[in-house]
Amino acid sequence: MFIFKTHTELSAWLLTQKALHKTIGFVPTMGALHSGHIALVLQSRKENDITLVSIFVNPKQFNNPIDFEKYPMTADADIATLQQAGCDAVYMPQVEDIYPPHLPHVNLELGMLNQVLEGPKRPGHFDGVVQVVHRFFSLIHPNKVYLGLKDFQQCKVIQALTQQYFSSIQLVFCPTEREANGLAKSSRNMRLSKEAKHTASAIYHILQTIAAKYKKENLSDVLAASKLFLQTKNITVEYLECANSDTLALTTQWQEPGHNVVLLAGYLENVRLIDNIQF
Ligand code: AMP
Repeated sequence: MFIFKTHTELSAWLLTQKALHKTIGFVPTMGALHSGHIALVLQSRKENDITLVSIFVNPKQFNNPIDFEKYPMTADADIATLQQAGCDAVYMPQVEDIYPPHLPHVNLELGMLNQVLEGPKRPGHFDGVVQVVHRFFSLIHPNKVYLGLKDFQQCKVIQALTQQYFSSIQLVFCPTEREANGLAKSSRNMRLSKEAKHTASAIYHILQTIAAKYKKENLSDVLAASKLFLQTKNITVEYLECANSDTLALTTQWQEPGHNVVLLAGYLENVRLIDNIQF
């Protein structure tokens, strides 16, 4: 497995791969890899000649400096895991390699996508995502990019970016990998105690319960009762909302089958957890 620290080395290698007409699957990550990330790598391996993973903790997408400082870094273990998963190359740049001086700021009108849920709760977050993903896509020009639906709103933002600037790149949205108890796998779970990992299973449990009540009960009532239930588990709900899964417009009315998404952000032991369910 090749390990590239600079975009110059990476670009030289990509040039040779493209000259050989190899298709490139790309998996962007912030490291501290778990089986959710590896599922994306394996999907890419199935569908492309070459799989490239990036590991870069993007400072621009952290609205909370403490969250950035505490973000787990496990580079050596990540490299070993990727090697075992059959990844072809990993790009692990420094901040200066991604954001050299005078790199123009990318403007993308996100509209609704930045006005709900994570948008107002994490000001500047999606702008940071747009900057880093634009930079990666410009350097790599992959054929396909693998993204996790755990970050549903992020998938929509990257879709908007791709439609505007990179129409030849195909995005592949992959299902959320979970612990046996339903907790969505996340690098941040490392910061949870054993008890909290157990308690956190209430999140997916309640999302499934909401989906099971589809059109049988009033949506507003279901959401209100669900928030109360999570409170009893000491999970501080930041938001629990239903949205139209195409537009992300929040709604208190059930949508047509296949167009509902219920999204949650909450804190447990000061760790911010997000999850969602589509139905
Ligand atoms: P991150 O390292 O958290 O930025 O995540 C990198 C990629 O992995 C993103 O596309 C995430 O949506 C995806 N991802 C993170 N957790 C999971 C999971 N539990 N299941 C599937 N994909 C995931």
